[in-house]
Parts: sequence; structure tokens; C-alpha cells
Amino acid sequence: MKDITLSSLEIVQIPVLRDNYVYLLHDVATGSTAVVDPSVPEPVLDQLSERGLTLSLILNTHHHGDHVGANLALKAATGCSVVGKAAPEETIPGLDLSVVEGDLVTLGASTLRVLELPGHTRHHIAFWSKAHRSVFVGDTLFALGCGRLLGGSALDLFQSLQKLKDLPSETLVYCAHEYTQSNGAFALTVDPRNEALALRMQGVHEARERGQPTVPSTLSQEFATNPFLRTDDPLIKAAVGVMEETPEEEVFRQLRAMKDDFKAG
Ligand SMILES: [Zn+2]
Repeated sequence: MKDITLSSLEIVQIPVLRDNYVYLLHDVATGSTAVVDPSVPEPVLDQLSERGLTLSLILNTHHHGDHVGANLALKAATGCSVVGKAAPEETIPGLDLSVVEGDLVTLGASTLRVLELPGHTRHHIAFWSKAHRSVFVGDTLFALGCGRLLGGSALDLFQSLQKLKDLPSETLVYCAHEYTQSNGAFALTVDPRNEALALRMQGVHEARERGQPTVPSTLSQEFATNPFLRTDDPLIKAAVGVMEETPEEEVFRQLRAMKDDFKAG
């Protein structure tokens, strides 16, 4: 008889700084633990000791300080290894293992696949677990929004978001910031007749009033309500002010520029 290991991955969401989310991933079968994009060490170390966990890996989606700020302190405190994508102009502190598209990161009995998603930065990556229906997207896709262009081009980011469309729609999107309310305020201005969006925003406001996170969402929620994934929609094109036949990547570029100029409320 063959041993079958049913892996299960516990995900702990740690709110830090003003609006960042750091994620602890704990492979229950083996006890292996990783942290995604640790900005600051203390809340991570607190969670580890509270739960009696030993950190094996840091997974970085990109090099920004609010994603890698705790790398060196956590390495020093736990001896963990740092996984990310090496790039000379986007340095990740303490990087031990550089990964590229399609690489598999093993965490105990769980596996995460590396997806290259340039746009927010030139070398941004994500970690996708098909088995656990979860993707850790950093600052690429947000609930009701997407990352700003801080290194990559609009075309890069457009193509990266298209890539996420290929994942199963029930996949949970673990993004790195609680930006949903302000993203939603913009989304309503370009997609005012979208009932699913209006309904979702009600839930978002209620959750925030209770002090609860609005992340993760599912890809299917994003397909229905996130304007940056709906650049093929005639109503979005009209709101952006482009012709029906305008290519989607151009709609996306203009939509991203509109969001940059948008001041909520
Ligand atoms: Zn960033």
C-alpha cells in the first residue's frame, strides 16, 4: 500500500505597517514554514514563537523595501533561506536562491510554482500553489486594482495580468496591500453600472468598518469587478474614452494612467 500524504497549507495573514500584508505559510504535514514578503521582523517573529514554528524560507515577490525589509533580520534570527529573482538593478537582500518562471519551490509537502509577472517592477514574480488554490501576487494584482508602474511597462503589467487569467478562477489572490476601498472608489467611476462591483463594495466597506481584511479575494471576483481585468468590456472602453476597436493593452495603459491621476473622495 502506498503512503499518501495529504498536504495542507495553513496561511496566516499578518497586517503590518500602514496597509501591508505579510503571509506565513505553514505546511501542516511537515511543519515547514515560509513567509512571503516580510516588511518588518517583529510581527513575523512574534507569530513564529506564538505558534511554535521554525522559519525555513523567505519568499520575495520583488525588491521593494516594504517587501524585503525584514530579510536580513529574519535570516540572522532563524537561519532561513531567501528565495526570489536575482536582478542587478532590483536587489533582494540576503538572496540565497534565484528563481525564474516555472521553477518549483518546495515547502515540506507543498509546492509553489514561480510565475514571472513584470510590470510593477521589471522582475516581479508570484508564487502559485495549484493544490492549495492560492497565488501570492505581491504588488501585481490587488483587490479591485493593480500595481503601479515602478519599473516595468504598461504592456508588461497588462500581459502579466492576462497570465493570471489562465489560473483556475477559484484561486485565492493573496496580494500585499489593503488597498481595496480606494481601488473600489476608482473602479466605480469607470464601471458605474456593474452591479457585482457595487455589491462587492458594500461588503468591502462593512468589512473595513469591522476592522477585517478584504484580502484574499478570488480570481473570479476580480474578473467580475476589477476594471484592470475587464479592459475588453465596451463600457470600460467608453469610460476610458477610447474606440470600441482599441486594443486591450492600450485600454489598460490609459486606465492605469487614469488611476494614477485619481484622487478618491
Ligand atoms: Zn512594490
